[in-house]
Amino acid sequence: MRLVLLGPPGAGKGTQAGVLCNTYSLMHMSTGDLLREAVKNNSPVGVQAKSYMDKGELVPDEIVTRMITEKLKKQDVSDGFILDGFPRTKNQAQILEAALNDLNLPLDMVVYFDTNEETILKRLTGRRICRDCGKIFHITNIPPKKDGICDACEGELYQRDDDKEETIKNRIKVYNKQTSDLIDYYGQKKILNKVSGDLDVDELFEVLKNTFEKSGLK
Ligand code: AMP
Repeated sequence: MRLVLLGPPGAGKGTQAGVLCNTYSLMHMSTGDLLREAVKNNSPVGVQAKSYMDKGELVPDEIVTRMITEKLKKQDVSDGFILDGFPRTKNQAQILEAALNDLNLPLDMVVYFDTNEETILKRLTGRRICRDCGKIFHITNIPPKKDGICDACEGELYQRDDDKEETIKNRIKVYNKQTSDLIDYYGQKKILNKVSGDLDVDELFEVLKNTFEKSGLK
């Protein structure tokens, strides 16, 4: 199946993407992860992207669309994929559509994770990520067994620089201004499915599984 996960930061897209990719053997493509990797490696893309990411602004479309279209061309995505955090603008959505049409692999579904600002703030300020394997934890909702240590690989857990309250507030503003229009865009294409991002990880996974079954997606 070929999915886009759409929704504000902190709606649970990354966590569900991890679970869904394992369950359905899909390729996970997160522009946020790719950009953080580029920043860590100090690559030309990373150097360009960092100042936008630190402020919670969107990285220019040319950079992210190039990253995704190159990945789509290079990797075999015919068994299915999840795009998480991409597209974030109508221009990105149109470029994605053209690239997928060229590959004859159109999107099956866009899942919109609906949630509110209070939940987002609680989720993101408490979010912790494994430096080694990228697994996502939360200090109260999904606590690791040992403080600060990843359950899966014993890597160190860290807090993202942009998961600080002021930056989170700007990321929400940016989402409302630049990304939320995609709800209508995909709604008109009749591939949008709305789910509640307020559910816990297991509940939301069950909802998603049922949604896919009903739509005949495997
Ligand atoms: P995320 O991990 O999806 O929350 O993304 C972290 C940051 O990376 C965002 O706040 C943006 O600065 C940047 N970013 C990720 N995906 C995109 C995208 N599709 N378009 C523009 N900027 C992006």
